[in-house]
Amino acid sequence: MRWVAVGDRVSEVLGRAVSEGRVALLEPEAHRVCELYGIPVAGFKLAETVEAAVTAAEALGFPVVLKVVSPDILHKSDVGGVVVDLKSPHEVRTAYEAIVNNVAKHTPGARVRGVLVQQMASPSLEVVIGMTKDPTFGPALMFGLGGVFVEVLRDVAFRIAPITEADAWEMVREIRAFEVLQGVRGQAPSDIGALVDILLKVSRLVVEHGEIDQLDLNPIFVYAEGAVVVDARILLTGGP
Ligand code: ADP
Ligand code: MG
Repeated sequence: MRWVAVGDRVSEVLGRAVSEGRVALLEPEAHRVCELYGIPVAGFKLAETVEAAVTAAEALGFPVVLKVVSPDILHKSDVGGVVVDLKSPHEVRTAYEAIVNNVAKHTPGARVRGVLVQQMASPSLEVVIGMTKDPTFGPALMFGLGGVFVEVLRDVAFRIAPITEADAWEMVREIRAFEVLQGVRGQAPSDIGALVDILLKVSRLVVEHGEIDQLDLNPIFVYAEGAVVVDARILLTGGP
């Protein structure tokens, strides 16, 4: 068997999107790209029918999360496209129907490729890692805590990729809410090493694949040991 380099396999996924005229990867594609770079993602399968969703859930193990997969939808929860904590085949069937109906109502005409069936990660502190292209400096990596910390307080750290391990530790330490990661109100400290590891892998990914224009891992759940990405969005440079 021919050994195929990780970079080639990522290029294959990106190339398929381009050949279909898409600038946004579908969520399972984005998770696959992360997985190929060793970034921990929640176990997932793409299901194209309700029965396939049940089979996927049984293989992944309950509880699971269902999410719409559509090239026309980037913010899935805004259109009722995410249902979490499904504990049985019956709940999976009901959620599948609900997602299809919600999407038809909120985004008529959206092309639905199926649903992503994903292992439910235990809720924990949420962080965000992103990348946007700075016109002058190139790929700018971003780190912050999820929700209001990023969206309202803009409490984020930036570095231009490629970054070193020391840069990654600095990024995590320099946000104002760093204390939250160290554990407040009796909570165990978060595994900052796991976040540093993801930052370094994202840095490598975007440097090695310049056609990635934007990347958003939001959220990543971080635990006392380890971290897991539950939502990944990757946009490619448009044009020829
Ligand atoms: P959106 O496209 O709306 O950003 P997400 O995939 O981020 O959709 O899902 C919305 C929210 O649902 C997440 O912010 C997270 O709180 C929760 N969620 C999503 N996937 C999982 C999962 N696998 N395990 C636990 N919670 C999840
Ligand atoms: Mg999200």
